[in-house]
Amino acid sequence: MGPHPAAERAGGSYCYIEAPHLHAYAPDHSIFYHPTSAGYVFVGDPTPFGYAGERHIFYGHHPVAVAVDQSVFCFLDGPHHHAFAPPPGDDYRIMDGIAFYVGPLSAAYVDERAKRWELVNDEFKPFARFRPAVNVVVPPAEWRGRIYMPPDVKIQLPHRPKHVHRTRVRVEVHE
Ligand SMILES: [Zn+2]
Ligand SMILES: [Zn+2]
Repeated sequence: MGPHPAAERAGGSYCYIEAPHLHAYAPDHSIFYHPTSAGYVFVGDPTPFGYAGERHIFYGHHPVAVAVDQSVFCFLDGPHHHAFAPPPGDDYRIMDGIAFYVGPLSAAYVDERAKRWELVNDEFKPFARFRPAVNVVVPPAEWRGRIYMPPDVKIQLPHRPKHVHRTRVRVEVHE
């Protein structure tokens, strides 16, 4: 259902067919596809897979609108692209052009997250360099996701001041 990366063995280009359609191959990176009653829906970031078109930046998990009566979610942590824009309304906060989903999360979301969250993000790790460059992100207060740490970033903790008063505790044990 809808556009998706073509499998490597089928040429590896991007398939832009919007309508439900058939291919003679199974998808690569199948965890990026969500099976629905109408077929596989690609819910990954299309950027590493030859997609050339309009893109929008999302941060963290969010629902994906599909033409079936079924919940489909994107479980990519951190900044990533989609070909679709966030729908207008109160469910998204846009900060610095980045869409954060702050709407309700259903029981279906919790079930699916248990199955897909880790697998989806592991599968996307080799493609981390294709993520949108996002500088300092301060998520909206009502957002409940987790901040993404790029794999090649080292956290430099601030140096402790030298004159720290230590509290010494002496413990004596009398038998
Ligand atoms: Zn196709
Ligand atoms: Zn997404």
